[in-house]
Amino acid sequence: MQLRILGCSGGIGGDRRTTSLLVDDDLLIDCGTGVGDLQLDEMRRLRHVFLTHTHLDHIAGLPLLVDTLFSDLIERPLVIHAQSDSMAIIQQHIFNWQIWPDFFELPAHSKPSVVFEAMEPGQSIELEGRRIEMIPVHHTVPAVGYRVQGASGSFAFSGDTTRNETLWQALNAHDGLDLLVVECGFSDEEREIAELSRHYCPSMLAADLERLRHDPEILVTHLKPGDEERIFAELQAAVPGRRLRRLNSGDRFRL
Ligand SMILES: [Zn+2]
Ligand SMILES: [Zn+2]
Repeated sequence: MQLRILGCSGGIGGDRRTTSLLVDDDLLIDCGTGVGDLQLDEMRRLRHVFLTHTHLDHIAGLPLLVDTLFSDLIERPLVIHAQSDSMAIIQQHIFNWQIWPDFFELPAHSKPSVVFEAMEPGQSIELEGRRIEMIPVHHTVPAVGYRVQGASGSFAFSGDTTRNETLWQALNAHDGLDLLVVECGFSDEEREIAELSRHYCPSMLAADLERLRHDPEILVTHLKPGDEERIFAELQAAVPGRRLRRLNSGDRFRL
């Protein structure tokens, strides 16, 4: 299994891209601005998009991706996997003919270019040798993370979350974890904002990491633009025993 980071910033500017992770060549987790870096032929190989939640930085690329691929999707629709709550929000607020055409009805209701497959937290789905588990987390809107198990390795992605019981419990229920992509949106100085917006800051993430019984390489994502070095340094100081790395767009991992 391969993991390629298309976007992992909390914002835009320069080479920053918002969240999008490519698994092998056919499966996306989130569809932030990073998806725009794919070449057209790479986009055409996409079959599945798993969404963590409905915030714009995680879905901004989705309407444009679907439009770009439209003629290909007529024959084989793109499958969007998400919680029912998240999908209802996206259909009501994005694919509503006002912000963007309703591709769930195009070119025809009976032959849509995008289809929705509901998953609920705790459920798993098997796709060509990869098992994708949806894990509930704690954010300002319904939100999940995912754990992906391939033939020879596994990774998990927290999505956007603040302190929670569920992610760590779900990860501990498995035998191992090779990589953990986890958000840390704010510095400790901005702990209050992290709490209000339900993100992690280093001290909060450090406290939750104590519950993780595995020792994965920890890839830190969703850092606030301009504050990346400070947040990462604080986290390094807070969890000296863990293998930490700051995630960058373009990073690739083989699992
Ligand atoms: Zn969010
Ligand atoms: Zn976000």
